[in-house]
Amino acid sequence: MRNDLVKAWEKVKIMEINGYRSLTDSLNNTHNTALLGACNKMFWSEAHRASMELALDVLGMEAQILTGTGDSEGMLQGLTRGRADYPVSELQASFFFSRSETIWGGTAEIQRNIIGERALGLPKEPKPLKA
Ligand SMILES: Cc1cc2nc3c(=O)[nH]c(=O)nc-3n(C[C@H](O)[C@H](O)[C@H](O)COP(=O)(O)OP(=O)(O)OC[C@H]3O[C@@H](n4cnc5c(N)ncnc54)[C@H](O)[C@@H]3O)c2cc1C
Repeated sequence: MRNDLVKAWEKVKIMEINGYRSLTDSLNNTHNTALLGACNKMFWSEAHRASMELALDVLGMEAQILTGTGDSEGMLQGLTRGRADYPVSELQASFFFSRSETIWGGTAEIQRNIIGERALGLPKEPKPLKA
């Protein structure tokens, strides 16, 4: 658990550095925004998913108990995230949503393809033969 907490902290520091790198790119007009974006999207989405898994591990069995208020009205207004029939806490809701973050906005696998082919100049992945 201690190792995983340190790894999570390291990832936060890497995201901080990546943020500065993107800012520097914008300020210097070096136009690497798309490639940096692909790296950042892949990294933060995987880091967030791992840190939410760690958060539930820290809670242990308690993580399985739904501790949200189930305020459906608040959910409709975008203020809370648990529903009356599934009253997840904010942390539990973040855990579930983190599962989708490596998919939406381009999956982590596709971001890796972009980085490999366009940033590192690796050969393009083979295309399947057309029938
Ligand atoms: C919560 C959520 C919100 C979303 N919101 C929006 C939205 O607001 N607007 C919108 O337009 N879309 C939205 N999407 C759709 C999202 O952009 C797509 O789900 C995403 O781009 C992946 O495409 P796909 O589902 O067609 O998966 P597929 O392309 O079918 O991929 C399936 C799997 O195969 C892998 N894969 C596919 N091709 C390759 C390859 N060449 N190399 C290696 N691996 C590969 C993928 O990584 C993935 O694991 C949302 C999705 C989710 C889950």
